Amino acid sequence: MNTKSAFIRTLLVSTVITIIVFSQHVKANNTGTVMETTLEYQLNYAYQTKSRLHEYARETLNQALYDVIAETTLVFSDELSLDSVAFAIAEERREVHISMAFVRYLTAFVERTFDEPLTYYNSNAETLHAYQQDLINHAITDITLHELGHHALDLFYGQYTPPRFVPDMEKQVGRWTTRMKNNLELDENELGRLLTLFSVLDHKLAERKANNAMTRTVKNLQNKIDYECLDAFSEQAKVLCENLADTLYAEYALTDGND
Ligand SMILES: [Zn+2]
Repeated sequence: MNTKSAFIRTLLVSTVITIIVFSQHVKANNTGTVMETTLEYQLNYAYQTKSRLHEYARETLNQALYDVIAETTLVFSDELSLDSVAFAIAEERREVHISMAFVRYLTAFVERTFDEPLTYYNSNAETLHAYQQDLINHAITDITLHELGHHALDLFYGQYTPPRFVPDMEKQVGRWTTRMKNNLELDENELGRLLTLFSVLDHKLAERKANNAMTRTVKNLQNKIDYECLDAFSEQAKVLCENLADTLYAEYALTDGND
């Protein structure tokens, strides 16, 4: 979600021991149910999203975007923390790093939380598993496109970037991501970013309960979710916004008065 400082980036890149770089040619197999049950399916979906964006750049004769996407490598990192989700770097190479811990948590969160479709009339998935996979895909799409957006717009920030510039950069990248989702006809119910934020919130709430400590992060996340929800217009996103935060707070038995 964040673009880290030059120093941290270099340090991180040099200390990443287990990096899984999948072949760019690997394609997701939508029909294989065995495939769907594995983490590889989620990772393949990130490649699929990148491929679709690349194809879109080719079709629209957007040479600049085409070149940037061709240059950018997706890196799935076992070292990147869950809460970091993902980040984009463009130093020696253009890279998008996605946290494997996050992808695992997201998968578990969706499977645990969505044991029935959000709205009865808007699930064309044949099975609950396919429905859950669809939700996970939306989050993976959002993350992948967002980080590729940092590259496409050349918007990066680090420890020397004045903090006041950061929210505007993120807004620009957010708008670009929404536009690309529309162009690529992906995540039409605008669930991806919300699901990402909610799964990080779920993790933070679980941590907070374990430590019995107040975290400002929870409030910040809630603010981000509220901001996204103000813009939400799809029925499914509205249902998510109206119910999920309350469900999570109740699950972790937290009230605003606790801190
Ligand atoms: Zn960003």
